[in-house]
Amino acid sequence: MPMSNAFQERLAPALEPAVRRFGTPFHIYDEAGIRETGRALKDAFSGLPGFREYFAVKALPNPAILSIMLQMGFGFDCSSVAELALARRAGGRGMDIMFTSNNTSPEEFVAAAADGGSILNLDDISLLDKTPEMPELICFRYNPGDRRTGNAIIGAPAEAKYGVAHHQIVDAYRRARDRGASRFGLHTMLASNELDYRYMVETARMLLDLAGEIRDALGISFEFLNIGGGLGIPYLPDKKPLDLSAMGRKIGALFADFKSRRGHAPALTMESGRYITGPHGVLVATAINRKEIYRTHVGLDACMSALMRPGMYGAYHHITVFGRENAPATEVVDVVGALCENNDKFAIQRPLPPIADGDRVLIHDTGAHGHSMGFNYNGRLRPRELLLRESGAVELIRRAETLEDHFATLNYQPDVLAPAGH
Ligand SMILES: *Cc1c(COP(=O)(O)O)cnc(C)c1O
Repeated sequence: MPMSNAFQERLAPALEPAVRRFGTPFHIYDEAGIRETGRALKDAFSGLPGFREYFAVKALPNPAILSIMLQMGFGFDCSSVAELALARRAGGRGMDIMFTSNNTSPEEFVAAAADGGSILNLDDISLLDKTPEMPELICFRYNPGDRRTGNAIIGAPAEAKYGVAHHQIVDAYRRARDRGASRFGLHTMLASNELDYRYMVETARMLLDLAGEIRDALGISFEFLNIGGGLGIPYLPDKKPLDLSAMGRKIGALFADFKSRRGHAPALTMESGRYITGPHGVLVATAINRKEIYRTHVGLDACMSALMRPGMYGAYHHITVFGRENAPATEVVDVVGALCENNDKFAIQRPLPPIADGDRVLIHDTGAHGHSMGFNYNGRLRPRELLLRESGAVELIRRAETLEDHFATLNYQPDVLAPAGH
């Protein structure tokens, strides 16, 4: 179930005028769809007092998008200095921002505490001694390792670089409290593009159990439990979407049960990126070359600089030809970019309607981890981003990169360190 019919219908009248005004390639995002998903998320968790989503900025780090998130009442999950700057530029302050870095540098600690601060989410117990100042509110990212809750198997966290190990977690909070912290959060992130909501329920159960364990050991209670991001979207047409309302009901019941046993329950928070914006973006490119060798290759005017996921992960992105969405797929082709890198392919051996030069090709589900992951290898520039407003207007929200941008780092003061000993 890629790009929704509603998005297709909203985009159809705007597409050719947008191509004429701005040119291809571009990512275009659907404000109405993003807001609808935001409302659905809030509805699903409306039974949980204090629920808040912190949009994972890395998924779609554009100020126009971030201000929509803030309007919906969402905060921001940041993990770099640049993401902190973007979140603040959109108006996020203090409790609006969760700073979830790993392998954290001194500069990042300073940036996290500056400009109204943020919720500091520490990735390791050793970082307690590197935090310049212990904030009042502190959170740790938990890595359960090989531990399991119930029957659930949640990823392979023992191999991951993230988080505080189980045998360290009580000590981490004890030391934070001894250094002056008085408010506490607990975080984990175990899933990626997960379509089975039960993983998220098990993650919530695991964090509630752990919060109880830490409370029994130290007498501290938690303000929030953050179950991370990783909610999946169906990139493949035959996959079913995640059952958000079942997830909300089941997690709501777990929190209610915790509260009835312990007299207090933390707020639930999460930091989804992909789920919020992923399906609400498409990459629009023009077919510019058709090449018949051992296979048929359809060459687009976009490449991996606009979308890394197919080349990097072999990820499936649905493809349609504008105006011929329902035409029969009578050809099997590779859809390629122009990089001198053979994995620069948006699709491999994909059945599609015949594509001729000049056709507009839509690559679906590029609203998250699309533009933001693009790179400049081969001097290929990243495309512009457009926003289809609820009014039907199409707004440029990022211009395309230019050669001046690309060569900007070659503008510098010459500087040579003489050979040592001279
Ligand atoms: C990437 C990331 C997310 C968002 O992941 P999605 O798959 O987009 O939901 C959330 N939290 C952290 C810490 C991340 O690194």
